[in-house]
Amino acid sequence: MMDQIHRLQDEIEYNLNQINHATDEKQCTCGQVVPVGARFCPVCGKPFIEIERREEL
Ligand SMILES: [Zn+2]
Repeated sequence: MMDQIHRLQDEIEYNLNQINHATDEKQCTCGQVVPVGARFCPVCGKPFIEIERREEL
């Protein structure tokens, strides 16, 4: 049961990444929509290192 939950969570994250790729945009936690290639949010300055690391895997 726990394995299934974790698999679904991974699938949700994967799908969100796919959506971001499809639109060439991603949304910061502050709500600002920024280009996928952006390394920092222009509004709050939050780095997107975490997302980039997932894409490499
Ligand atoms: Zn932000």
